[in-house]
Amino acid sequence: MRRRSTRWAIATAAVAALTLSACADTGSSTPEPEVVDDAQFEPGTTMAALADAGTITIGTKFDQPLFGLAGPEGVPVGFDVEIGKIIAAELGIAPENIRWVETVSANREPFIQNGEVDIVIATYTINDTRKEVISFAGPYYEAGQDLLVPAGNPDGITGPDDLADKVVCTVTGSTSEVNIREYATADVLTTDTYTNCLEPMRTGAAQALTTDNVILAGLADQNEGEFEVVGNPFTAEPYGIGLALDDTEFRNWINDVLEAAYADGRWVAAWEGTAGAVLETPEPPAVDRY
Ligand code: GLU
Repeated sequence: MRRRSTRWAIATAAVAALTLSACADTGSSTPEPEVVDDAQFEPGTTMAALADAGTITIGTKFDQPLFGLAGPEGVPVGFDVEIGKIIAAELGIAPENIRWVETVSANREPFIQNGEVDIVIATYTINDTRKEVISFAGPYYEAGQDLLVPAGNPDGITGPDDLADKVVCTVTGSTSEVNIREYATADVLTTDTYTNCLEPMRTGAAQALTTDNVILAGLADQNEGEFEVVGNPFTAEPYGIGLALDDTEFRNWINDVLEAAYADGRWVAAWEGTAGAVLETPEPPAVDRY
């Protein structure tokens, strides 16, 4: 690991000069992690299969600024995307050989179960219900559910207890939907992506949008002057990397990669080049090797 971190530090210095142009092209200023050129894995493991194939298919969000946001060419940028690049690089796979597939909240488990993707990195909360059908490496970040309201907060909403006569928009298949249904609301409006909640907010059909604070911060930043985050998170949302239920070797290996990235600065660089444009840099959470 020490050898790799040294190599990465050299790579960081080497690409630093390119950072500005990379930023203009991709929306990310994170240096590309150095791709391991001699990745060796035990035959029969998922790591060996992916390294041999030279490609990995990763499910992520395509419309969530700061975490996974795709441009017109369909290549997403964001913190989740950078975590995917770090994992791919350790498999010997360069960023351009990653196949990115859009996942929305409701299709993440089926996409993993059907083998449509190798892993999902998509603001994906680790919980026991999901662990019945898939498994999770991580967490690599911990968010908290919050509320987005129109700028100026005209209804004076301070938290989920203020929604008894309000319509709240959220996304099907998310923990946000499950959690908000525990509170009194006039109605919960559901759709398939959080950006689809913005129009009901603009027309007044919904008075609040609820999901993780960092997703809301990205939407507020993208639509400057229109919305604000209440800033009173009421759940814990540890983000994990979803993978096939029984692939314990792959899960352990991804956890090793995350811990190495915490230790050698790649995780911080990934954050600072993406979500860090809007949000403070947190401490990485401890990996949960359940
Ligand atoms: N983190 C929550 C979840 O995994 C909400 C965000 C999302 O839907 O991606 O359900």
